[in-house]
Amino acid sequence: MSLPVLVTGGAGYIGSHTVRFLAAQGYKVVVLDNLVFGHRDAIVDAGVELVVGDIGDKALISKLFDQYGFGAVVHFAAYAYVGESVTNPLKYYRNNTAEPLALLEVMQEKGCKNFVFSSTCATYGVPESIPIVESNPQNPINPYGRSKLMLEWVLKDCDTAWGLKTVALRYFNASGSSEDGKIGEDHNPETHLIPRVLMAVTGEISHLDVFGTDYPTPDGTCIRDYIHVNDLASAHAKAIGHLSAGGDSLACNLGTGVGVSVKEIITATEEVTGRQVPVKYSPRRAGDPPQLLADPTFAKENLGWEAEHKDVRDMVRSAWAWMSGPRKGRYES
Ligand code: UDP
Repeated sequence: MSLPVLVTGGAGYIGSHTVRFLAAQGYKVVVLDNLVFGHRDAIVDAGVELVVGDIGDKALISKLFDQYGFGAVVHFAAYAYVGESVTNPLKYYRNNTAEPLALLEVMQEKGCKNFVFSSTCATYGVPESIPIVESNPQNPINPYGRSKLMLEWVLKDCDTAWGLKTVALRYFNASGSSEDGKIGEDHNPETHLIPRVLMAVTGEISHLDVFGTDYPTPDGTCIRDYIHVNDLASAHAKAIGHLSAGGDSLACNLGTGVGVSVKEIITATEEVTGRQVPVKYSPRRAGDPPQLLADPTFAKENLGWEAEHKDVRDMVRSAWAWMSGPRKGRYES
């Protein structure tokens, strides 16, 4: 029987899908979330406990460790608006880099040495070569990416000093929702492409702005690697398994290896919904690299993980199930 797992930020988008996945695998899961961006209603499994609190609250975390004796921590809790990180960097360095130190201090005190970290392809910045392998230089171009990269460094140093083992998962573009439409992506404000395309379909926004049509890509729009949120969830389970079996620290890209342009997302959405997407072609958004694409080989070889969903229509279809389902893409609390 595996030890309980502490999931910080487990009421957020990727966190809540991972919590559901872990609970289905039989893990005892305790979620720590301050509900600033997370949603109480995103916790749908009766056996999962939600503790409302901050990752910087050492006394609370210490108490939780004493109560549950966690075997691993999965750390999602973070802010993730790139634009805001540029205008308010201290908020990002405080929350994404500094606050987790309290959590790590408690882990050191309690002797818990298994850590799964939500990192990001934003740590690579504008890639020198495509597809991106883990050894690509990490030169983030915004404070969000730097706040995550700095924590990767902290985790490495903790490994050297006291044997903390980390799997840093560098997500590409998380997308889609649980297939039953019970949980999904509810950001406020919502800036991500797939939900915004769907919001343009439902009329929640008047149209989709396509940011840039003059990129050096086949159709002139940016290319990204969209990864289904349930595939991200399964990678976290693999990472816990790897660490629990005494595996070494790793950093892995989580993507499909399939590049999809903004225009292709629009086409996929029209196919899935049977409706037309009202579109306006707009200037480039500052800081968008033309192309981000993962080489997911390392995760396959080292975690035995591979994305199940490689067709972006799967992501759009499940996101649509959430947006057009009973909750209409929004949690009550
Ligand atoms: N994008 C767009 N219109 C939008 C939102 C996003 O054209 O309303 C483009 C954006 O410029 C990028 C891609 O869609 O090329 C994915 O953006 P998103 O914000 O979803 O993820 P990012 O890659 O920035 O993390």
